[in-house]
Amino acid sequence: FDGSNSDFLKGVVAMDGLPAGDRMEVCFAGRSNVGKSSLINALTNRKGLARASNTPGRTQEINFFTLMDSHYLVDLPGYGYANAPIPVVEKWQRLLKRYLSGRANLRRAFVLIDTRHGVKAVDEEIMSLLDSSAVTFQVVMTKADKVKDKDREKTLNQVREKLSKHPAAYPELVLTSSEKGDGIATLRAIIAGLD
Ligand code: GDP
Repeated sequence: FDGSNSDFLKGVVAMDGLPAGDRMEVCFAGRSNVGKSSLINALTNRKGLARASNTPGRTQEINFFTLMDSHYLVDLPGYGYANAPIPVVEKWQRLLKRYLSGRANLRRAFVLIDTRHGVKAVDEEIMSLLDSSAVTFQVVMTKADKVKDKDREKTLNQVREKLSKHPAAYPELVLTSSEKGDGIATLRAIIAGLD
């Protein structure tokens, strides 16, 4: 698919707002500033489709997009805000847990990791949550263009080592650059191939 028939569907702040799980779904999670909006925009071929949902006031929202006529693409807002008030974070975590553990049509989560930084403690938290929710997840490395080839392998090995400890992790990484377009077709093919 080329993403040209993607659209924003709705932002959800509570479980009763979730759309019916009548089609396959994939979700995207990542630290704020990891490049998630850019990746979703590249995937869907629509600049500005994934609005910058990275202000603390919007951390509780789960954003649903349609993808082709057969999938939902779900944008889980960035985690790891140093400044968000604790009650906001707790409310968001409750919603996230309930979403992940109760969504039968969720086929795969994509956890975004910055190729410059590798897996951080907050990434481990979301991976553990995915393990306990039995949601298969695959790591998508972002901003690959910012790292020189010789430095990249070291980070990739760190990521692979971390993933080996997570039962829900899919072993294969996807290396992407939203800026250059690298890996976008691969990621589309992975999504289209899920069943
Ligand atoms: P989000 O907070 O995870 O949604 O991150 P954004 O998509 O808003 O990206 C954060 C910053 O990283 C922005 O300045 C983007 O332009 C930049 N960025 C995102 N993806 C890439 C990429 O593939 N390559 C480069 N060089 N910069 C990127």
